[in-house]
Amino acid sequence: MFHPMDAEVARQVIQRRLQVGRLPHGRVLALPVRRGGGEMCDGCGEPMTRNQKMLWGIAVRDWVSIQFHADCFQIWEVERLLPMNETRFDPAGRHD
Ligand SMILES: [Zn+2]
Repeated sequence: MFHPMDAEVARQVIQRRLQVGRLPHGRVLALPVRRGGGEMCDGCGEPMTRNQKMLWGIAVRDWVSIQFHADCFQIWEVERLLPMNETRFDPAGRHD
């Protein structure tokens, strides 16, 4: 499973992908957990290896399939429900 630091990195990648529309915000039909086989995680972008659990699902609204590490799925489930316009982490900020 994740080192806490990796989970934080994964969370930031997932937040970014939600913001730019690369990940759906809507509900997903989640299918059973299975073993990874080298597929890319749609959450963190890292491959899912055989000794990691992966979970894939189908976005209800747009019928695209998405696949995640089991841990990334948990992160996405939380992040997708957070308000979009709340910029809690904005390192690019208003420093100009
Ligand atoms: Zn992942």
